[in-house]
Amino acid sequence: MNHTERPMPDRDGPRDECGVFGVYAPGRDPARLAYFALYALQHRGQESAGIASCDEGGHITTLRETGLVSQVFDEQKLHALDGDMAIGHVRYSTTGGGSWENSQPVWRDDGRELALAHNGNLTNAVELYNELRDRGIEFRGTSDSEIIAALLSIEEARPIENAVAAVMPRLRGAYSTVVMTKRAVVAFRDPHGVRPLSLGKLGGRFCVASESCAFDIIGAELMREVGPGELVALTEDGLETRQIMPTDRPAHCVFEHIYFSRPDSRLEGRVLQEVRGRMGEILAREAPADADLVISVPDSGNPAANGYARASGLAKDDGLIKNRYVARTFIQPGQELRKHGLRMKFNPLPEIVSGKRVVVVDDSIVRGNTTRQIIGMLRDAGAEEVHLRISAPPIRNPCHYGVDMSSREEMIAHDRTVDEIAAELGADSLAYLSLDGVYEAVGTPRKVHCDACFTGDYPLGDDGEGNGKFALEELPVGQGAR
Ligand code: SF4
Repeated sequence: MNHTERPMPDRDGPRDECGVFGVYAPGRDPARLAYFALYALQHRGQESAGIASCDEGGHITTLRETGLVSQVFDEQKLHALDGDMAIGHVRYSTTGGGSWENSQPVWRDDGRELALAHNGNLTNAVELYNELRDRGIEFRGTSDSEIIAALLSIEEARPIENAVAAVMPRLRGAYSTVVMTKRAVVAFRDPHGVRPLSLGKLGGRFCVASESCAFDIIGAELMREVGPGELVALTEDGLETRQIMPTDRPAHCVFEHIYFSRPDSRLEGRVLQEVRGRMGEILAREAPADADLVISVPDSGNPAANGYARASGLAKDDGLIKNRYVARTFIQPGQELRKHGLRMKFNPLPEIVSGKRVVVVDDSIVRGNTTRQIIGMLRDAGAEEVHLRISAPPIRNPCHYGVDMSSREEMIAHDRTVDEIAAELGADSLAYLSLDGVYEAVGTPRKVHCDACFTGDYPLGDDGEGNGKFALEELPVGQGAR
């Protein structure tokens, strides 16, 4: 595969940037477990996938490549990843080139050999990067994950658990991280717990993953979430946990509840399908519509649409059919096909929507291009009225904690009222779920979450202008990583 080719985007909404997994399970083919766990976490990143394993002799092998988990690995490659423990990673990125260099797990040996997989974003990446470069450390990619790997690799404290304890206070931002040495798989989560990380049990052994859906697929059992500021070490001795940093202000990403995590994953004690259904119910209470039919923007809008229909008493049907494989083509449509644009992703059913006043439920709008086209398609298919209901508040601010949200100016809600957004999208009416409604559905209070993309209230003490995803690539030539 040509590394500069890009898969067609699945949607113009926010994009999660990574999923991580780690397991210590001698005799259970850990690389295969990692493969299936990553398969379950595929929605968290479709650009690259990688697994690192460590064999009995303490030899770490890393295999990573651009593409989907199913494209990157086959039986032969999994056999080459023999060992007692493994870590894995799926990544989403918007970078043009160099995507292979930024794929993970990252491998480094600057004193301590390790492989590392990370979900999140360091807001002090540029400072750390410059400091390490001044110390003569070379980098292969431009990801902040390699910075964490380098800091841990050069850290003199032994064993790796103590190295993590020494390095964590230097990191700012969001990091749910899994690192593997010859002896252990160690996972740690930033003191705000921005990105998710869960701990599972597999027989008498243990594993960690971004989401609990990764445990279901390998027959592991969700124990609990790794706490903010906590380290968990998976070794021959079993499980060791340490609170490395205090957690004054948990800031779990509320968008994980709304969209990112899979509906069958459990977060903060609740399965997300149910939470999202409740969001739809509350949305129906807050913003009823005089309409005939509820449809969802599949698949992510499904649970909220079910909830909206339940609470409103309106009928629900599938008015839009999604091509589930659209994100998997690397072939760009030619000019002729491009005219049909969104039909590659969604196809409206005139038999369902024609002559109807339709409520369309989706989970979020960022730039609005897809939404505008969907509304146009529904009108072309004969819908009499289109009432848009969104199970989240308007997104008006970028995320600096590991999610690609576009720039402020690209967001359709930037400097627009809800009525202006409705006019811009061509909807007969538009309503968003209130922030209070979100937390009513989530069931845990606002003070333990991040909702900066809705409110502009950045809970990690930065001003929201911290080092972005491309900060390292934006350094002047000669300073940036190669
Ligand atoms: S800014 Fe939004 S997407 Fe980013 S961590 Fe906060 S809630 Fe999540």
